Amino acid sequence: MSTTQIRPEESGQYSAKAYSAASATSPLAPATIPRRGPGDDDVQIEILFCGICHSDLHTVRGEWGGTIYPCVPGHEIVGRVVSVGSEVTKFKVGDIAAVGCIVDSDRACANCQEGFEQFCPNIIGTYNSPDKQLGGMTYGGYSDSIVVKEHFVLSVPSNLDLAGAAPLLCAGITTYSPLRHWGVTKGKKVGVVGLGGLGHMAVKFAHALGAHVIVFTTSPSKKQDALRLGADDVVLTRDADQTIKHAGSFDFILDTISADHDINAYINLLRRDGNLTLVGASPKPFAVSAFGLLLGRRSLSGSPIGGIPETQEMLDFCGKNNITADVEVIPIQKVNEAYERMLKSDVKYRFSIDMASLRED
Ligand code: NAP
Ligand code: ZN
Repeated sequence: MSTTQIRPEESGQYSAKAYSAASATSPLAPATIPRRGPGDDDVQIEILFCGICHSDLHTVRGEWGGTIYPCVPGHEIVGRVVSVGSEVTKFKVGDIAAVGCIVDSDRACANCQEGFEQFCPNIIGTYNSPDKQLGGMTYGGYSDSIVVKEHFVLSVPSNLDLAGAAPLLCAGITTYSPLRHWGVTKGKKVGVVGLGGLGHMAVKFAHALGAHVIVFTTSPSKKQDALRLGADDVVLTRDADQTIKHAGSFDFILDTISADHDINAYINLLRRDGNLTLVGASPKPFAVSAFGLLLGRRSLSGSPIGGIPETQEMLDFCGKNNITADVEVIPIQKVNEAYERMLKSDVKYRFSIDMASLRED
């Protein structure tokens, strides 16, 4: 495997290849971006694979507001360590390492102290966050190289396929964290709504945790896959009768849908004190019926990604249980086509970009 060509400039800053969007309506296109030279506590990573998350699409197309252009998305990063700063102790040159959605936080607030960096008021996202070192905004993993503080770099168990491991860094932790938080264990009845990147990871985790798992999907073509991934049953949601027969029976439902939909239909499937957690981030607000919640003392909550300790725990869990994402590996030149296919729910079940294609671009 070739190593990234580093072009040193002043203060160690160098140029990396990337795919970047110039505006909400521009396709992603080749670009050259600055990366900082590694500091004492930094790890420099040659990126090998980067997953495509629906959040990349929401951000690039400005669907949530707040996107600063040019935007280089990507927060499901796996690569090889090419250099380390003098204070780095956990990684050495040649190691396989991973980076998820967080590249910095204040490390001093109560959330950071407890390992919940995802709730830090000063969190720095892997892309579209202020870049304290270089100015401008942070640039993500659709790139051949990245420099990240050691604290935010994860270790990948050696038995995992790297293309399939990349999506664990967002789709994996985003589903693992709420399943653990809400006590999903053997014997619990768990619903997973939407079988995309997040949904298919939720099915694998809930099954591995011993739950009885039911998938809710709009796509009849995913039924057999859902069962293969670990679901005990599949409900085609276009058929309302199939859904209603599960009324009042779920301990926990994880809703991963990326677009507007009726969440009341799912709240009504919860048993007494059941919880529905939203991880899907539809840009449009939901209308929630008070009665669905108060009759049955049900709760509705949300969950964002996960902290660094839990992300490492999730990766180790995946190593032990041999869990990776089901991926379609693509060259970066197909990224715009992949976005269109993702919008049609036509991905089984995560695109993973082989970054060797960027080096050849
Ligand atoms: P994805 O791969 O595109 O999967 C979304 C799935 O939702 C689709 O495969 C489809 O499943 C279902 N779906 C899409 N449009 C629908 C509609 N109009 N009505 C009903 N179902 C629909 O996306 P993803 O990467 O898993 O991300 C899912 C959502 O989670 C996105 O909004 C993303 O931004 C968000 N997200 C949140 C976090 C967090 O921290 N909470 C982290 C990552 C991503 P079926 O074909 O099975 O129906
Ligand atoms: Zn993501």
